[in-house]
Amino acid sequence: MNVAKIDKLHEFIRYYPRLVVLTGAGISTASGIPDYRDAKGEWKLQQPMTFTEFTRSHHARQRYWARSALGWPLFDSAQPNEAHHALAALERLGYIKMLITQNVDRLHQCAGHEKTIDLHGRLDEVICLNCGEILPRQQLQQALIRANPSLAEIKTSFAPDGDAQLEHFDFNSMVIPECTQCEGVLKPNVVFLVRTYPGPESALVCRP
Ligand SMILES: [Zn+2]
Repeated sequence: MNVAKIDKLHEFIRYYPRLVVLTGAGISTASGIPDYRDAKGEWKLQQPMTFTEFTRSHHARQRYWARSALGWPLFDSAQPNEAHHALAALERLGYIKMLITQNVDRLHQCAGHEKTIDLHGRLDEVICLNCGEILPRQQLQQALIRANPSLAEIKTSFAPDGDAQLEHFDFNSMVIPECTQCEGVLKPNVVFLVRTYPGPESALVCRP
C-alpha cells in the first residue's frame, strides 16, 4: 500500500474510531492459504463442496475427507500474518469493536483478536450431523490416518479450504470415521454452499 493510501486509511480510522471489520480469503493468502477465486471471481480450482453433495453422497464424503486429510497438516500449521496482527493491534487500541471473518482458519484469533465472528464456521472443529457432538478436527485427523494409512505417504498440493488436490487415489477405498457417540455422519463445522453457481453470486449458505 502506498503512502497516500496509508494516510487515507489513518484519516478514515481517526474519523470512524468504532469500526466493524469484515475480512475474507485475501487476508490469509500471505499466511500460505490460497483463495478460491481469481481477480474476475472465477473458481481457480474445482468448486468447493456443497452441503447437498456432502450430505447425500458417501462417495463425495470419501473424496472430501481424503483431500482434507492431506491438506489439514499444512492448513493447521498456518500462522497469522502482518495484516492479522495489525487488526488485532487496532482492536487492543480500541478502534475495532467487532471483526467478522468469512475465513475458517482462526488466524485472527491466533493473532490475539478477541471479538470475532466466524461467519462461515471453523475448520478446526468437526460436528456430527446426527447428534450435534463437536470434536476437534485434529482428533478426526488421527482417526482418518489410522483408518487410511496409505494417505500418510502421499504428497500433494494445497487448496483453499484445507483440502488438497488428489488425482491418483482410489476414493472408493477411503474409510470415513463415524461419530463415536452415535455413528452419525461427521462434517467439518463450516458452512457449505447449498449448491454452486458459475459466478460469485453463489451466496446461498446453510448450516448443519
Ligand atoms: Zn453423533
